Amino acid sequence: MDGKTVSQQILEQCAERVRAIVERSGVTPCLTTVLVGSDPASATYVKMKCKRCEAVGMKSLRMDMPETTTTAELVARIAELSADPAIHGILLQHPVPKQIDERAAFEAIAPSKDVDGVTIHSFGTTSFDLPGFGSCTPEGMMRLLDHYKVEIKGKHAVVIGRSPILGKPMAMMLLARHATVTICHSRTKDLPDIARQGDILVAAVGKANFVKGDWVKEGAVVLDAGYNEGNVGDVDYAPAAARASMITPVPGGVGPMTIATLIDQTATAAERLLGIHA
Ligand code: NAP
Repeated sequence: MDGKTVSQQILEQCAERVRAIVERSGVTPCLTTVLVGSDPASATYVKMKCKRCEAVGMKSLRMDMPETTTTAELVARIAELSADPAIHGILLQHPVPKQIDERAAFEAIAPSKDVDGVTIHSFGTTSFDLPGFGSCTPEGMMRLLDHYKVEIKGKHAVVIGRSPILGKPMAMMLLARHATVTICHSRTKDLPDIARQGDILVAAVGKANFVKGDWVKEGAVVLDAGYNEGNVGDVDYAPAAARASMITPVPGGVGPMTIATLIDQTATAAERLLGIHA
């Protein structure tokens, strides 16, 4: 599954929507990215997101805060952005430095501007299958499944990983689409046997080449959300690809879909906040 090409199509549609928003409201949609500290990988992600934003005609603002920022300072800054009518989307780049209560910082994002889909509110709307913003990485994976017309209803989906921004919302999205879902984590017993039952297998673990080829059911659809050092996924690609009917590569699979989803959801947030019905 070619996330690079599919994400490009999403971004092209976004550029058209942004043009329409500007024409109808005179307002340019704006995504603000908050980066705390100086982690080089995070800085690269932020740069990439800002670049994509500008490429579709949106404004991108960057708020860089020092490594020593406290939870209270970060929450106050995000609350200001949440109240600012010129800003339509807020992204807090994570992980944040360890003295910060990440959940408290996420929760300071107004749900209407939570274009990265990280708040409890967004998880709730995802779980209840209500309009809102999905967490970008799982939302991007669902879009990829839809693009390739993968049948989800009635399939057994096995999700490895249960983080609040990835494994858990992915499981909820698959459940909403009528898959039978098994969620696995670090305490799961007999993981390879469970993985082998998956018609759809999602790896969201954060360990390079963790999912072995013989964990993949013949003909399964494999989504690899992992992005580990050296651009390596969570799935041992070549042996898994030999058994899968479809698989996402790393890089060029889930990663570009995540960014395209973020940009797309920012356009949606702007439309909603400006009262424009696309
Ligand atoms: P995370 O918060 O560290 O969560 C990892 C999950 O994997 C946890 O639920 C953990 O279980 C589970 N796990 C760890 N070891 C395991 C084991 N031996 N067996 C089974 N499960 C195990 O990571 P994350 O934020 O979800 O990210 C996962 C991966 O996705 C990382 O490689 C990250 O870089 C990548 N990612 C990519 C994108 C993108 O845009 N492509 C975006 C976000 C993340 P417990 O809950 O029991 O600890």
